[in-house]
Amino acid sequence: MTAVLVVEDEAHLAQGLRFNLEAEGYTVTVCDTGEAALSWLQHGGAADVVVLDGMLPGQDGFAVVATLRKASNFVPVLMLTALHRPEDVLKGFESGADDYLAKPFDLKILLARIRSLLRRKTWVNETAPAKEIAQPAVYEFDGKVVDFRALELRAGTGSFKLTIMEAELLRYLIRHQGLPVSRQQILEDVWNLPADMDTRAIDNFIVRLRRYIEAEPTRPRYVLTVRGVGYRFVPEPAQ
Ligand code: CA
Repeated sequence: MTAVLVVEDEAHLAQGLRFNLEAEGYTVTVCDTGEAALSWLQHGGAADVVVLDGMLPGQDGFAVVATLRKASNFVPVLMLTALHRPEDVLKGFESGADDYLAKPFDLKILLARIRSLLRRKTWVNETAPAKEIAQPAVYEFDGKVVDFRALELRAGTGSFKLTIMEAELLRYLIRHQGLPVSRQQILEDVWNLPADMDTRAIDNFIVRLRRYIEAEPTRPRYVLTVRGVGYRFVPEPAQ
């Protein structure tokens, strides 16, 4: 059974989410504060995906996801933000959330996003059928190793744990290697977000990837900026 942890303080909304998620066949745990959710997880509670409200009494959702990320990269986190403010979305992604949905949201969209996060989780799972892994679970380039199953990147500068969306983005860039990809394309293809959204969230993820991969993140050699377009991944840059 797939377990969903819902962190939501508005009782009627939490109840509605529980009802609908259970109708989809998920096991649902509801916590009404971030502290309760973290404590539940620390005491053996297991979630395959977390639906986390941004505005919570006590620790807000952004703080909760940041704490959660210290313990695990594997749990996909979908943040619910009260407003469509780009700064909230950015803040969510910066804290380590994998996806976000603005309130009020359409239930069908929420369920689709949850399914999409769970599918992504599957490709890091050893039991995933081979066909779902679009490329080898381990990718090597220029002395660096990306282990998509362990969500780990080993580079000259050290070993880094990736979040699922960092790994998804990297996988996307690798799949399009040598070709420029636009921020809009990335939003649509990697996050399933509308391309007209603020794209700074993508830049933020790129900064994070560069920190892992590049010897000098401000002078990237692998994840290049294509001015006016977006980014281009070059696995073996010329010396
Ligand atoms: Ca709330």
